[in-house]
Amino acid sequence: MGRKTEQSRKLQKRAEAVIPGGVNSPVRAFRAVGGEPPFIVRGEGSRIWDADGNEYIEYLGSWGPLILGHAAPEVVEAVIAAARKGTSFGASNPLEPELAEVVLSAFPKMEKIRFVNSGTEATMSAIRLARAYTRRKYVVKFEGCYHGHADALLVKAGSGVATLGIPGSAGVPQEFTQFTLALPYNDAEAVDQAFKKFKGQIACVIVEPVVGNMGCVPPAKGYLDALRYITSRDNALLIFDEVMTGFRLAFGGAQEVYGTAPDMTTLGKIIGGGLPVGAYAGPAELMDMVAPLGPVYQAGTLSGNPLAMSAGLATVCYLRENRELYGRMERAAGTLVTMVAEAAKEAGVSITYNRVGSMFTWFFAEGPVTNWATASKSDTEAFGRFHRAMLEAGVYLPPSQYEAAFLSAAHTDEDVRQTVAAAREAFAVVEAK
Ligand SMILES: *Cc1c(COP(=O)(O)O)cnc(C)c1O
Repeated sequence: MGRKTEQSRKLQKRAEAVIPGGVNSPVRAFRAVGGEPPFIVRGEGSRIWDADGNEYIEYLGSWGPLILGHAAPEVVEAVIAAARKGTSFGASNPLEPELAEVVLSAFPKMEKIRFVNSGTEATMSAIRLARAYTRRKYVVKFEGCYHGHADALLVKAGSGVATLGIPGSAGVPQEFTQFTLALPYNDAEAVDQAFKKFKGQIACVIVEPVVGNMGCVPPAKGYLDALRYITSRDNALLIFDEVMTGFRLAFGGAQEVYGTAPDMTTLGKIIGGGLPVGAYAGPAELMDMVAPLGPVYQAGTLSGNPLAMSAGLATVCYLRENRELYGRMERAAGTLVTMVAEAAKEAGVSITYNRVGSMFTWFFAEGPVTNWATASKSDTEAFGRFHRAMLEAGVYLPPSQYEAAFLSAAHTDEDVRQTVAAAREAFAVVEAK
């Protein structure tokens, strides 16, 4: 265990005195895997460095945005150029329609887009709009899908199918989630039943078309089409939350990959290139209901911020001009995921994996993981041992079993080779306990 941790440990102490848990987003505290979170001081390409000088190959990509890797020159230059002209105006700047046009070009069914500052705001606003448009109250979401931390979306499934959701956080009154229905993912029958029980009352279904937030879980064959059919049948809206999958799985996101078109799309992460951005998009008929054109209120002091727009624009334009990157990332991720799985098998460790494009999870579980019920059977203790051993070996994975990992365009074959070698060592530790 040669890794130095003194500086990070000091910083964590200092942070804990003034920030709850020392972190500004809970999973960063490493509570789900044990061990101590390194403080990161620098990133370049596929690598990051912590306050003690340790170097890691990393598969977090800031939880998704950094598809071009850390400090991608195109993005850094664009942000510097924008910053020189001023950091914020609270008035419109030319980068806003420019990014809007490029993003919309990737999603043929979406005609207009509104930029906000986070994925949380994007989904919250999209649901407000869906409720206004349909004049209905109920929202269907799926267990294990995460759509940010708005009250009505922080909901766990109640027991049984098509029952009312229960608040997933203290501080959320039951009344605030009474119109949220939480159903199992990949179960079209449950959605059909809910729509029969609440006929004419469901405003929208919101779904991660490929789930990243219970670990990577792809949709079963025909599942997204079933959601499309059931929502259309009852004049409800279908919202694809592509905050993670947009520009990740393909230039046109999961809707391009699976060929199912939602009514609204929420975006974030990659379209901000590592700066804070979210967005929601849909047909003009819907989007024109948003203020100032319509009665649905939604605003933001820093929305459309020029630095965020410039980083997003640099990232998305780079992807548009280099679409072969998707094939390359997919092949590299495929090699990585299967070779690590083989190493696990050789070490006698039970894992199963899911991967779509450059997004993946190794579940310490037996059998296929298709929803929260199967994902939650994972051996999180074993994952924690694996995570800590990988960190020691210089590989930084998402610090929870229930988060997707990402390979970026900056990862090389050598990165993959080193990661597989590290995993081989790590599985020996996992097995030994
Ligand atoms: C990350 C994420 C969000 C929340 O975005 P924030 O910017 O963290 O608020 C919402 N939905 C999905 C699918 C996400 O992956």
